[in-house]
Amino acid sequence: MGQVLAADIGGTNLRLALIDDNGQIIDECRVEAKLSRHNQSTREDAESYVIDALCNAISPFLKLHPVSDIGIGFPGFFHGTSGILAGSPNLPLLQDFALGKHLSERLGIRVAVQNDALCAAIGEQRFGAGQGHANLLHITLGTGVGGGLILNDSPYAGERGMAMEFGHLRVVHNNGRVCGCGNSGCLEAYASATAVSRRFTEKTGIDADARMVYEQACDGNKDAVLILKETGLYLGQAIAEAIKLLDIETVTISGGLSHAWQHIHPPLMAELNDNLIPPLRGKVSVIHSTLDDNAGLLGAAAIASLH
Ligand code: BGC
Ligand code: ZN
Repeated sequence: MGQVLAADIGGTNLRLALIDDNGQIIDECRVEAKLSRHNQSTREDAESYVIDALCNAISPFLKLHPVSDIGIGFPGFFHGTSGILAGSPNLPLLQDFALGKHLSERLGIRVAVQNDALCAAIGEQRFGAGQGHANLLHITLGTGVGGGLILNDSPYAGERGMAMEFGHLRVVHNNGRVCGCGNSGCLEAYASATAVSRRFTEKTGIDADARMVYEQACDGNKDAVLILKETGLYLGQAIAEAIKLLDIETVTISGGLSHAWQHIHPPLMAELNDNLIPPLRGKVSVIHSTLDDNAGLLGAAAIASLH
């Protein structure tokens, strides 16, 4: 069926690509779109802000590559494959919003939109470190923490489309940090890129984003090393709980913060194995994405091709 556009929408950046049936990226670009930092105060303002921002980013790329389908991975809870966004912890004003329909009307092409982490799971299983695994749990570490599940070679999105909200598993039970979803103690409030930056700033008084924390850790800064170690411990704890429910052998992780792999992975594995049921200890692999941050784009292209 040829080529489609794919978009991976993050809190600070939006990536676009033209992708063919074989998962080959033919052209791509990155556009800055600070969706999670806009200061709209009403729901209507937020809706038109997001639609404008997405269309302004996508339209020039679409002019360059006039195709009839786009697949989009977007951070938030979706009602099945309807394109209706039920809510988004990092864009809290958007609720029950027909994102797919609005984008399709404005762009004049077919739009398939789904949870970003589910798209990344699909991409990783088809083309990345998840290849050959019929069952896969994929985790994304970015502005938020996302989860996507593949069962028997098919994406599993749950009864209503909102399964595997991994970032909102509770990892701290008393006086936990407040999360964008409205609950407290969620993994995302400790192990997202946003949380890593916040925790580092609280500890040191130094303003630094997650990438700087990672660079500091590589330079031997003890606070940065500790914060990334704790991030690994929280992730290990949450993955262990997920494995108790799912008994999955392979977990893959992508997203900006996963670049700090050498700091996060060893404590993650230690905590995971401590918390698994005994017969599964040492039997779960947690692998870094092999797709160079393209898992979400490749999965988004796959959902567009299904249209
Ligand atoms: C949202 C998820 C999303 C993740 C990563 C979380 O806050 O609840 O739906 O997949 O962020 O963007
Ligand atoms: Zn939460």
